[in-house]
Amino acid sequence: MSRAVQAQQNGMAFAAPGQDDDMCPVCRSTRYLNSNLRFLVNPTCYHKMCESCVDRIFSQGPAPCPVAGCARTLRKARFRKQTFEDLKIEREVDIRSRVAKVFNRRQEEFLNLRNWNDYLEQVETLTFNLLYEVDVEETEAKMASYEAQNAESIRRNKILENQEHESFEAASQAQKAQAWSRREEALREDEDERKERVKESREEQNRIARGGKAKVALKKSTARKKEVSKGEGKTDSSAPAPVFEIQGLKPMTAPKPKEAYDPFGRVAIIPEYYTLKKDYEHPWLEKARTDPAITTGGYDVHEYCARAMMEAFAGMGVFI
Ligand SMILES: [Zn+2]
Ligand SMILES: [Zn+2]
Repeated sequence: MSRAVQAQQNGMAFAAPGQDDDMCPVCRSTRYLNSNLRFLVNPTCYHKMCESCVDRIFSQGPAPCPVAGCARTLRKARFRKQTFEDLKIEREVDIRSRVAKVFNRRQEEFLNLRNWNDYLEQVETLTFNLLYEVDVEETEAKMASYEAQNAESIRRNKILENQEHESFEAASQAQKAQAWSRREEALREDEDERKERVKESREEQNRIARGGKAKVALKKSTARKKEVSKGEGKTDSSAPAPVFEIQGLKPMTAPKPKEAYDPFGRVAIIPEYYTLKKDYEHPWLEKARTDPAITTGGYDVHEYCARAMMEAFAGMGVFI
């Protein structure tokens, strides 16, 4: 027989208990036939059964557990959903939380670490007894007497615990809020940057339309990144950087800067009968300047005003 076949058979052998886990031990219905099957457990004996069995058996009042060999009296109200897959763990967690509610002393209440550790060991022994059902009655009695004697300290420590929990919650909430505001800030910055970019490109187009040279503007984010990298690089600046030196190079002379091209050959057209103002106040012009619905790159309101003024005074001083 090949190894693969053997492994397959072993796998089938292991699959059987899994199927059992999905079957109600009372009515024998399985999840295979009923996908809505939900199991409940009762912390009295931790026997698992399906919801419909719980309804059927315990609706009339307390009844003995129907699982063979158990017969403990169960109440419907105590049935609850299973948190852990392993019922042993479910039971241990329940017992530990019950013990922790009573034995809630804090380390600062003890004189030294030794006393604190001894106390922890005592509590652990008690928990162990409850978990493995060793001297259960005696242990329960011990617990009850401790609870009665130390009711005040238990109450006080519980309040402290709640306060700590609340302050922790508040701190984590504040942290979340901070993260949120940081995110908002980043979004706003991005939006501002986008607007800035649109504005810059419009200005750039206007400048080009007026015959100026294109200027490369450094983006905000790039500038920010540069600043960050500068900050990061500071630690390295103290260490001597490796130098690559070349001897005997010719001195470089910068070429003469070219003069800007003047299409009118230094002829300036200065109006004789009027002075062109920088801005003219008029709601209609203001709209053309600022309303993003009608503004466009390359269109200059000042240019429009200059033309309108020139046309208005065009005939002055011409005599025929
Ligand atoms: Zn059932
Ligand atoms: Zn039971």
